[in-house]
Amino acid sequence: KFLTFEGLDGCGKSTQMEMLAEVLRRDGIDVVTTREPGGTPTGEKIRSVILDSKTRFLHPMAELALMFAARAQHIAEIVQPSLEAGRWVLCDRFTDSSEAYQGGGRQMGSQLILDMHKIVCGDLWPEMTILMDSDPEASVARARRRNRANATDGVDENRFEREKIEFFQRVRDAYNAIADREPQRVYKVDARRSKDVTHPEIVRAVRERMG
Ligand code: C5P
Repeated sequence: KFLTFEGLDGCGKSTQMEMLAEVLRRDGIDVVTTREPGGTPTGEKIRSVILDSKTRFLHPMAELALMFAARAQHIAEIVQPSLEAGRWVLCDRFTDSSEAYQGGGRQMGSQLILDMHKIVCGDLWPEMTILMDSDPEASVARARRRNRANATDGVDENRFEREKIEFFQRVRDAYNAIADREPQRVYKVDARRSKDVTHPEIVRAVRERMG
């Protein structure tokens, strides 16, 4: 089974994904956790090109193409082989991130991203996506604090640091549009609450939907 986690930077999705993975493992399920962009050695190199804070300008189309390059590699090396081996794949971000950030945030539109998905990934979509809906101000502030803490030589490690709050508002709107369009796949969680509340809610939803 293929499950993905989505949401704004700093919404808590990575933590929730690891917490869910632990519960599933206790149930005896063979779980792989991974992330995009990244997840493979080549993918991590592409990730560092995308996020490099020293890059002054990366053309949106170049950014989008790099996201799909990392995704193609990730599917071939991790996702597809794991699914074929009967494992559950939990992935931090997938094509919904491209639709939200490049489609919505960068205003490239949804259709382009869906067309590219078809070309690069075919019919591979997660059975379930957990969307952690949070408010841009709070979650972006959290992500920024984390980036600064991880930064070396005072250089932020993530280029998205520089985006204005309106960018993240468009990203959130695009995520919500995906959830409205595909309620059978996307399960939306109010991530403004504490993780002790959201975690059991996510576990319950996954058990209900995935059987
Ligand atoms: O979630 P994570 O911290 O791994 O994401 C890394 C960065 O890449 C984030 O700032 C996220 O907003 C950005 N990103 C993006 N478009 C994607 C995937 C991630 O802009 N399709």
